[in-house]
Amino acid sequence: MYELERKQVLNTALKLDQYGLIALMGGNVSWRVSEKYVLITPSGMVYDQMVATDVLVIDMEGNVVEGERKPSVDTKALLYIMKHKPSAKAVIHTHQPYATGLGLVMDKIPCNLSTLANSAEGSVNVAPYGDPGSLSMGIQAVGAIGDRLSVVLKHHGVIGIGKDLQQALVSVVYLEEAAKTISVALSTGKPMAEMTPKQIQTAVDVFRYHYGQSNGYMNKKD
Ligand SMILES: [Zn+2]
Repeated sequence: MYELERKQVLNTALKLDQYGLIALMGGNVSWRVSEKYVLITPSGMVYDQMVATDVLVIDMEGNVVEGERKPSVDTKALLYIMKHKPSAKAVIHTHQPYATGLGLVMDKIPCNLSTLANSAEGSVNVAPYGDPGSLSMGIQAVGAIGDRLSVVLKHHGVIGIGKDLQQALVSVVYLEEAAKTISVALSTGKPMAEMTPKQIQTAVDVFRYHYGQSNGYMNKKD
């Protein structure tokens, strides 16, 4: 069941490792492949030691439909996000250090870069702490994400969502790139330059409607 899609989930998890957004077995990737079923990475397995069949098929209540492993410990929270954010067909959870680090000193990551405007469509909020593995982690993420594709989980990591795995991946990778750049700016101790709302909107529109090979890269609809 969903052989090809399970491979895509694993490949996405490997990319998180490649981009330095997780280490060893941290974080998770999940994908709502139909009304009934979700693919999800297993709990506590190192990604580069996994095979596609380690990715589980579960239902919307978290019951394992296919697979021998135990699903991610965050399953409850991830299903909550999918149920309450219909745009979240794919959900990626990372422990990316720069965005998470900025979340310890600010309530939102400001949209001071065109790349953040491209991928997040504005500043990215920091959600209050919810225990890892608890439903509260999902509730806090949904409460803070607004109409963005990513949210920082205070003291923990990041949630990125998308209409598919690629969009969710872009949201977390470019959030980290922006967070690194902002960290460099902050380290100088000088005031940070801001983008105007018009500059932000133009950057949003370029990526949403014109960038890439068809229909804009971050268009939230298919
Ligand atoms: Zn986590």
